[in-house]
Amino acid sequence: MIRRTPYQRATPDTPTVGDWRIRGACAVEGIDPDGMFPERSKTGLNQARALCTRCPVQTQCLLAALAEEGSRGRESRYGIRGGLTPSQRHALYRRSKNEPS
Ligand code: SF4
Repeated sequence: MIRRTPYQRATPDTPTVGDWRIRGACAVEGIDPDGMFPERSKTGLNQARALCTRCPVQTQCLLAALAEEGSRGRESRYGIRGGLTPSQRHALYRRSKNEPS
């Protein structure tokens, strides 16, 4: 069974064999994918970010999140993706566009 990572949840297409998304640390059996959406739990946030630091596809995941989320505001970004929170990804996007944060 292919588990759905945060990226997979955000995109409707189905990952294929060899797709980086199925190699995500959060796609491993035994990991609760809901844990990547900790909302306001500091413990949950730290656990999700720790998982991302061990993920072999962290860079691909972060780049995909930034590309998909584009200019969305912080409130329209969800979950921990590529090791960053929605606020961190929003700030990174704004810095990449030389916008004041
Ligand atoms: S970087 Fe984090 S959110 Fe992205 S696939 Fe890896 S574990 Fe999942």
